[in-house]
Amino acid sequence: MARTELTALQKKVVEFGEKRNWRQFHSPKNIASALSVEAAELLEIFQWMSEQESRQLNKEEKQNAAFELADIFMYTLLMSEALEIDLLQSTVEKIELNEQRFPINEAAIKPHSHNNV
Ligand SMILES: [Mg+2]
Repeated sequence: MARTELTALQKKVVEFGEKRNWRQFHSPKNIASALSVEAAELLEIFQWMSEQESRQLNKEEKQNAAFELADIFMYTLLMSEALEIDLLQSTVEKIELNEQRFPINEAAIKPHSHNNV
């Protein structure tokens, strides 16, 4: 996504809150909570599904997933605005960091373990 598109989308999400006087609630702490809730709403779609079923969503399930992802993305945009983080730059930097942490020739077949970095 081009920077101009991302910035325009971020502005739209910020203005949505401003017009409803919701900006007072958009502290980084509250946005982090909202992000976690929206991630849980995405997870709820897959709750009790087998891995195979989770790869074959019906139309309604896919639409629901799309909207929850959009919620997550919008709160991500709000958080990056609140903390004055350049989201594109930090994402590029994190991908580079991950490439260093998990070299291709050392990658195992099973998923890597996370340690909150
Ligand atoms: Mg939601």
